[in-house]
Amino acid sequence: MTDKPRPDLNDTATAPYFEAAARHELVLPYCDRCGLVFFPPREHCPACWSRDLSWRPVSGTGTVWTFTEVHVAFYDDTWADDVPYVAAVIELDEGPRLLANIVESDTGSLAIGDRVEVTFEDRSEDLTLPMFRVVA
Ligand SMILES: [Zn+2]
Repeated sequence: MTDKPRPDLNDTATAPYFEAAARHELVLPYCDRCGLVFFPPREHCPACWSRDLSWRPVSGTGTVWTFTEVHVAFYDDTWADDVPYVAAVIELDEGPRLLANIVESDTGSLAIGDRVEVTFEDRSEDLTLPMFRVVA
C-alpha cells in the first residue's frame, strides 16, 4: 500500500491550520482590517487585499453543501482500506467552505443541508486532520 499524501506542515501559509488541528481546534484565517473569515488560506484578504491577517477559532459547525460517496480506490491501493468513504464540502456557519471527510455517521441517509460538526482524526504523531460528523 502506498502512503497517503501529506500536507506540507512547514508551509507558512497553512501551518497554523494544522498546528491548531493537532490541538483538536479548528481555526481559519481572519482579516484584521475588514473582518472576513476565509478559506483556503492565502497571503492577503480576498475581499480587501489587506495582509493584516490572523488565525481565529471558528465554531466547527456547519452544513453539508455537497458530497459524494467514493466506492472506488483511485490512485493504486492508497485508499483501498477506506472505501466507501464520503468526501464533502462543508459550509461552516461562519461562511467558508471546507473539503473534508464525513466520519462517525450513518452516511447512507446523508443529505445536502445536514448539520455537521468538526471532529479530528489523528493520522500520525504529527498530523491531525479535521473531519466532520453529522449531528441531530
Ligand atoms: Zn479584508
